Amino acid sequence: MNNKNKIFCDHHGCWHEPRDIWLSWANLVTAVRTAAAVVLTMLAIAQHSTTLLFAGLLAYWIGDMADGMVARRLNRETRIGGTFDILCDRLCVALFYMTYATWHHNMLIPIGIYMVQFMVLDNFLTLSFTHWPLKSPNYFYLVDRFIYKWNWSKPAKALNSSALVLVMVLTKSPLATSILAAAIFALKVVSLRRLQQIGLPEVVGCTEAKTI
Ligand SMILES: [Zn+2]
Repeated sequence: MNNKNKIFCDHHGCWHEPRDIWLSWANLVTAVRTAAAVVLTMLAIAQHSTTLLFAGLLAYWIGDMADGMVARRLNRETRIGGTFDILCDRLCVALFYMTYATWHHNMLIPIGIYMVQFMVLDNFLTLSFTHWPLKSPNYFYLVDRFIYKWNWSKPAKALNSSALVLVMVLTKSPLATSILAAAIFALKVVSLRRLQQIGLPEVVGCTEAKTI
């Protein structure tokens, strides 16, 4: 049991480092893209500018792709980086949707559904990778293929992050947007149910004894 961390495997997604890295280029990109999204959204609110609001969303989307790319290119995917990225995503998404909802009351229902889904259900699901010795949710297929495929594979990520905005803006239909938001919500419930069935790895013993 004590040599649990000393098991070496060939999985690229498994965490093999003795310590995590706090300062990395990828984390710097995450910090900059989040700061840019916050500033642009605040300016959007101050000036009631839709253009600035979407510029903030774009800063988040582009930056979110860039930080992952930097981490992979430099072979510096860290668990702290993964967690930091997930938290910054929540902030950026909340800023965009709540501002949009304030200006477009016909979208209050789908945005309400989406907020609960993304801030609570998906947040818990995404952070659950930390219960395993994984680098990030991008390697969750080592735990479960179904959950990975529907939540963090490339098409699933696109569906989860950009589909709702596109449907909301292009169709301008609260019904279509609500149906999509409800479908994503249902997907997260099913994924969480599966996670519950798999069970999170047991955490037992004395915390104090382990940290000495
Ligand atoms: Zn492994």
